[in-house]
Amino acid sequence: MIEMKNISYSYSKNEGLAINDISLTIEEGSWVSILGHNGSGKSTLAKLLVGLIEPQSGEIIVDDLKLSSDTVGEIRKQIGIVFQNPDNQFVGVTVRRDIAFGLENRNVERLEMEKRVADCAKAVGLSDYLEREPYKLSGGEKQRVAIAGILALDSKYIIFDEATSMLDPDGVKDVIALIEHLRKNTNKTIITITHDLDLARKSDKILVFKNGQITASGTPSEIFKLGNVLTDSNLLVPFELQLYNAVSSDKELSKDNELMEALWQLGLMK
Ligand code: ADP
Ligand code: MG
Repeated sequence: MIEMKNISYSYSKNEGLAINDISLTIEEGSWVSILGHNGSGKSTLAKLLVGLIEPQSGEIIVDDLKLSSDTVGEIRKQIGIVFQNPDNQFVGVTVRRDIAFGLENRNVERLEMEKRVADCAKAVGLSDYLEREPYKLSGGEKQRVAIAGILALDSKYIIFDEATSMLDPDGVKDVIALIEHLRKNTNKTIITITHDLDLARKSDKILVFKNGQITASGTPSEIFKLGNVLTDSNLLVPFELQLYNAVSSDKELSKDNELMEALWQLGLMK
């Protein structure tokens, strides 16, 4: 479980707070989406979580370990991040070497390493790509390699920081399918940072960020009922959800649970 208590952070004395007194809990095995417009503090939160930057106040606790200079190494082993730009994440000359990189750093024994690389390549559907050069792959394939590298390290938490925003529609689909697969078939805790409401509504819980604060939190259906919270954060509400919201604000129609559920599912199927 990840806990943040009253975290505040500012990049410099002359600037405002990028994170303004945020407290949150992320349950083990859950999928949480952090929604918010550019500059709302989402990436700053991710950097704080892995100890790349230190909060000016508050505390972060990961699996009962309080984040500090003594524990940051241990905590980083448990949290993998997939970043926005697929081109900035490669270190290996082949997909195989790239997936193996983190394991090499940890002196994992060779046979064990080969097995893990093969297993993780398979998990992301890239078994036939092991000898390929990463930079020649499509954006979606590159992100899948980055995900395989994190799976190889077996970290408990995976943060996807706008990991689909630079991909073409096929790449987006592949990566989202993979996230859903991880959610269903592993006990990994997944944090997707996004302004894609279509992605966010598939998660268990949504936190809406604005100006370094959490303006709403709840299940996707709870959050999407607060249409104004989303538009207020400049988040584009998908058509199916606008429809859902319009019907749910109608006194009579909204009493029809079957209708509401059907509309919600319609949105999810998209
Ligand atoms: P998001 O990921 O939601 O787009 P960020 O966490 O990147 O937002 O940014 C939050 C705020 O912090 C913004 O006002 C941004 O300009 C500022 N910021 C982000 N990174 C830096 C940095 N390295 N130095 C100074 N200010 C930064
Ligand atoms: Mg960001």
